Amino acid sequence: MKKFSQLNLSKEFLSNLDSLSYTEMTTIQQKSLPFSLENKDLIAQAKTGSGKTVAFCIPIINKLKVKEFKVQSLILAPTRELANQIAQELRKLSRHIHNIKVLTLCGGMPFKPQALSLFHGAHIVVATPGRVLKHIKENNISLENINTLVLDEADKMLDMGFYDDIIEIINTLPKKRQTLLFSATFEKNIENLASSILVEPTLVKVEDEI
Ligand code: ADP
Ligand code: MG
Repeated sequence: MKKFSQLNLSKEFLSNLDSLSYTEMTTIQQKSLPFSLENKDLIAQAKTGSGKTVAFCIPIINKLKVKEFKVQSLILAPTRELANQIAQELRKLSRHIHNIKVLTLCGGMPFKPQALSLFHGAHIVVATPGRVLKHIKENNISLENINTLVLDEADKMLDMGFYDDIIEIINTLPKKRQTLLFSATFEKNIENLASSILVEPTLVKVEDEI
């Protein structure tokens, strides 16, 4: 499969992708979307710039129940810049399909306004691990409706020392969920993390091409 139109997506979704000039899938998207759209756990490794954000945003938007105004997906990312980029991509991809509320919760930003935003509700939360854990501990966020967890740039999050936070966050999530792990590298530490948080994951690797 090379084109988004070959995927089992709604007409609205496909025309939206088209209007964003997303017609041909990148290799990581070709290899991962058939599994991720089937709600399977997945480890995807491909270098920077290969289109990993779109690869995990599409299944999230595809299964979102917009009428249920509850946090259904949690995306963990290492930095605020990256979290904001992901939130922007989600908003772009869902335009004309759903009116979704995406919230970013990052460290270095005032805490109370984030708590207030959580109180008002969101469909998707994009967060850095330390900050979302703080909201979890203060009971600001309800996690029982989360059906998808994404770890983006997992290698970078581990390099930054977020391992314990990530595990603590995951221990509070529903067991029945889809977990998608994206990384530019795949070393022993990622393998160890993956084996403790994913269930029978499909491993997708793209070596050097885009
Ligand atoms: P990665 O997370 O793998 O580093 P990104 O998700 O940031 O890569 O994507 C890099 C760039 O490629 C972005 O500008 C994105 O809009 C673009 N892109 C992603 N998928 C496609 C596609 N199928 N066709 C064209 N451009 C794409
Ligand atoms: Mg990325």
